[in-house]
Amino acid sequence: MKNTRIVFVEKAECTSCQLCADELPDVFRMDEDDLAEVHHIDGAEEEEIQDSIDSCPGECIHWKDE
Ligand code: SF4
Repeated sequence: MKNTRIVFVEKAECTSCQLCADELPDVFRMDEDDLAEVHHIDGAEEEEIQDSIDSCPGECIHWKDE
């Protein structure tokens, strides 16, 4: 599976709620500071990643081209 867009987390805005890491653990994980980060950009379909973007309370998950 290869997505056409690259997802990233704007860590400064992350609330550490862990929602994204719980929903899509193959894409997101929590770092040593308990902030979310992307560890595998192709770990889920773009539609699933978009769902995580839409439900992120910090509005801090973005596509790189946006
Ligand atoms: S859903 Fe958003 S606020 Fe919550 S951990 Fe993930 S990136 Fe951070």
